Amino acid sequence: MGAGFSGLYMLHRLHGLGLSARVYEIGDGVGGTWYWNRYPGARCDVESVEYSYSFSADLQQTWDWTERYPSQPEILRYAEHVAGRFGLLRDIRFRTRVTRAVYDEAAARWQVETDRGDRVSARFLITAVGCLSAARVPGFPGVETFAGESYHTGRWPHEEVDFAGKRVAVIGTGSSGIQIIPVIAERAARVTVFQRTPNFTIPAWNRPLPPEEARRVKDDYDEIRRSMRASLFGIAAAFNPDSALEASERERREELEKRWAYGGPAFLGVFGDVAVDARANEIVAEFVREKIRETVDDPRVAETLSPRDHPIGTKRPCFDTDYYATFNRPDVHLVDLRRTPIEEITPTGLRTSESAYEVDTIVYATGYDAMTGPLLAIDVRGTGGAELRAKWAAGPRTYLGLMTAGFPNLFTITGPGSPSVLSNMFVSIEQHVDLIAGCLRHVAERGARTVEPDPGAEDAWTRHVGEVAEQTLYPRADSWYLGANVPGKPRVFMPYAGGVGVYRETCDEIAARGYEGFVLSP
Ligand code: NAP
Repeated sequence: MGAGFSGLYMLHRLHGLGLSARVYEIGDGVGGTWYWNRYPGARCDVESVEYSYSFSADLQQTWDWTERYPSQPEILRYAEHVAGRFGLLRDIRFRTRVTRAVYDEAAARWQVETDRGDRVSARFLITAVGCLSAARVPGFPGVETFAGESYHTGRWPHEEVDFAGKRVAVIGTGSSGIQIIPVIAERAARVTVFQRTPNFTIPAWNRPLPPEEARRVKDDYDEIRRSMRASLFGIAAAFNPDSALEASERERREELEKRWAYGGPAFLGVFGDVAVDARANEIVAEFVREKIRETVDDPRVAETLSPRDHPIGTKRPCFDTDYYATFNRPDVHLVDLRRTPIEEITPTGLRTSESAYEVDTIVYATGYDAMTGPLLAIDVRGTGGAELRAKWAAGPRTYLGLMTAGFPNLFTITGPGSPSVLSNMFVSIEQHVDLIAGCLRHVAERGARTVEPDPGAEDAWTRHVGEVAEQTLYPRADSWYLGANVPGKPRVFMPYAGGVGVYRETCDEIAARGYEGFVLSP
């Protein structure tokens, strides 16, 4: 299920194993999140030379990225290129949503149904549905009454949206809002930004990628990929293991300024204790607030933009182009929803507890039902008709984020309980796909019909995922990592916070011990 980067690579590996496979994809093209997120300014936060597949030396040597961070159109072209180059399109059914998947114990097969009336059966069912694909518009009263145009960043139309001369409201200041706001501000007559929680954002400093720089990376790819795989977040940038608390004031300043000038995710690797020690974290957080005060002319606006309710890095960090400076424009206004919440959407705009705002266009940059949302939207039933929704009612339970007990032969690429969203997704996707391919080979060699986790191994892993998160500052933020953005969703930290390097070692050891914790049935 899914023809984003995980589904595409999985299909390629299945071809290599000599298995027949079919991919169902809701969109009418490949690319997953990059197919849907066509909003102006959409760009990846990971550097292009690292946000790419490593499985084919030929691919990584022949594909040329043009910018430091790839734009959405360039990433989509890359996905289309990969699909064509590796002969994947013939096995993908587009415009087709899987609605139901029921495990038939007697046949040891999954019976899969789609919204186009397909009824197919498969030995293995692999979900490649993405972690951030179930877009969410909050249930503001009156949403459906708005007479102007409205868009969600994650469901952006294929046609260009014309903002010229328009009065635009943007709700939400996560990664998507922070990317789209400066671009809309350039085009619209007026932009009003409705902010509930201010976010920390670091300059990306995007720029063209000179061919000689790309050449150097290509010459050194083996080493770069090795260090990415062994790292915490799946990126090659050096992580400074030193403590912020032990550094002198001058050393701190130098390191922070150096990383700010470099930009992008490397900033968060500034000191080794930022993610685990509140005092170290506050040093880095205050440095960013100082930058906000330096950049934003109006001190009240600067203060409203300054995050104070969560440690830096505990909500997904954002990386921007001119975000804070955009609030110096006379045609851009910031509304603090903590002080004056939205009460309703009206036919002509929005009304907060304080004022009414007349607008032509509303942009919802309001995020996703992350990680579990896309999978639980499907009616998945395992052994004995057990519902996945019921099993995960108090939070996802998995072994390694890869499988869940009672659902034999069902694999979840970058599922909850794996590093997934806390990493460069390409690193996590390739590792999971390779692990699944290895497991399928193991099952075949043993002559087994089914594989699923031992419930004890699953319990221990689920506990471990929670314990690792508790050692960090992550649980201190109301983030989508914890499901806090979706009313009623259980508050459970979903990704594995131990880092991609440690996670990979753990998986490799488990595989080397004959897939310890997995149960094979004849
Ligand atoms: P998000 O980070 O979840 O941000 C949603 C925003 O909408 C938040 O500011 C949130 O406020 C606000 N919001 C939600 N419900 C609201 C309500 N009822 N009233 C007012 N405001 C509300 O979503 P996103 O920006 O789409 O990003 C999601 C994830 O996608 C990112 O964290 C990142 O992993 C990925 N992404 C990556 C890139 C990239 O690589 N460049 C770009 C875009 C997205 P609160 O914070 O108060 O909940």
